Amino acid sequence: MADTRMHALSDVGRVRSGNEDAVFADPAGRFAVLADGMGGANAGEIASAIAVDTVRARLHATLAHQTLPVLEDLQEQLLIGIEEAQRQIRQRAQRDPHCAGMGTTVVAVLLHADSLIVAHVGDSRLYRLRNGEFTALTRDHSLVQLHVDQGLLTADEARQSPQKNILLQVLGSEQMPAVSTAIHPLVDGDRYLLCSDGLNDLLSDNEIATLVATDWLDQAARAQALVDAANQLGGRDNVSVILLDVGAADPSRGWRDKLRQWWR
Ligand code: CA
Repeated sequence: MADTRMHALSDVGRVRSGNEDAVFADPAGRFAVLADGMGGANAGEIASAIAVDTVRARLHATLAHQTLPVLEDLQEQLLIGIEEAQRQIRQRAQRDPHCAGMGTTVVAVLLHADSLIVAHVGDSRLYRLRNGEFTALTRDHSLVQLHVDQGLLTADEARQSPQKNILLQVLGSEQMPAVSTAIHPLVDGDRYLLCSDGLNDLLSDNEIATLVATDWLDQAARAQALVDAANQLGGRDNVSVILLDVGAADPSRGWRDKLRQWWR
């Protein structure tokens, strides 16, 4: 598998009293999950925690048992994990009146060999920076995204729209939501970002791209810079980011490797 590193960071922001986002990045760099919960009282927090914990447990079990996994089987397991999360959230909402109507987005990536599997529900996103080009690899399940697709709104108008919080697919809804999934090749030097809307509502894609591309900050500092930028712009919402870097940790590392070979 390609050399990969991940760093997750979640922040309450400047306005909200609680953090309804949840994040997990596998210390071994094999997968990551991010969820943005919604619901009264603390229910959003519960929904996003169930989503992250359920998907994490499913992927841990899958990776522990499959010695020679097939890409499509891993994708299937990721989707099963998300479906399990949907059932868990529904059951909790039915059992606990405080949790009635709670829901959450989810975006998850799973790496295998030189491929990245992504699956998502709602408006939490996956972006890729490759050769200076910053691309959203997920399309929000939201009303404003539908209007952008239909040519009724520009992306900037969508960010300002009062309808921007209306989601078309949510984990926890009565019906099983439609999960979007795709497989992308990993290339050395790629940088990926998973984020909640607390980031991309406040920063444009260009602003996010500039921070993700910064080479003089290490990965943890880049994650912090993204969160700080959202907070400086008001921090209206919880903000969560997971950074995934593919390839050598930093430019100087290539140098060290060369020196090591030379001394051998
Ligand atoms: Ca949010």
